[in-house]
Amino acid sequence: MKHRRVNKLALPFLIFSTVTLARADRASSILGCTHNLKSIATGLEMWATDHNGHYPKELKELVPKYIEHVPPCPAAGTDTYSSSYREAGSEGFSMYCAGHHHKDFGLRRNEPGLDARHYLGPQSMLARLHKLEDRSNGQKPVQRCSQNLKNIATALEMWSTDHAGRYPKELADLKQGNYLRDIPRCLDRDPYSYQTGAHPDWFLLHCHGSNHKRDGSPANFPQYHSNKGLRRE
Ligand SMILES: [Zn+2]
Ligand SMILES: [Zn+2]
Repeated sequence: MKHRRVNKLALPFLIFSTVTLARADRASSILGCTHNLKSIATGLEMWATDHNGHYPKELKELVPKYIEHVPPCPAAGTDTYSSSYREAGSEGFSMYCAGHHHKDFGLRRNEPGLDARHYLGPQSMLARLHKLEDRSNGQKPVQRCSQNLKNIATALEMWSTDHAGRYPKELADLKQGNYLRDIPRCLDRDPYSYQTGAHPDWFLLHCHGSNHKRDGSPANFPQYHSNKGLRRE
């Protein structure tokens, strides 16, 4: 029987990736938890639509029509949401991950969550959750936005390769032929501006408005130009 020789060089890499994985693991548990909150909140909104704008008294009323089951928080391993859920009349509802399961990510007890006083509607609630996700990804919104632009630009170049060097008329064209499954949006909310021209062919993709003022990017930045690449300012 032949034994495979252990490559000593691989060892530091292995340790490095274990550390990185542990961090990614913690990140994914908070992402999983916020994802759960979002799914439940979506179920609650659907329930409210069917019930004259009222919310259920308990989460279990959502099962199985609006959500399959109340999911467990990945960090806690159990359902931490049902016990915290409160229907709050005209203010909507409040709900959080009950306990202190995301301490290692710098969250306080009973976070992440949504409270009724801050509940202004599905849009603002999702924006709050996305902000939390940005924190847990260790990425500023402007970094995430730049990454979106790079992903779209890559898809545009792939499209161009398949279409004699031309670029599509609209970003939505990338969805046909599966160049992109979804067209990403800034903060998952605002669509990107896209311009294109011919002879020679070019495109300009940019974040529209002032979403990244706080991160030092001027209005309509970051941008991605086919000739100049990514620019944050
Ligand atoms: Zn949780
Ligand atoms: Zn942006």
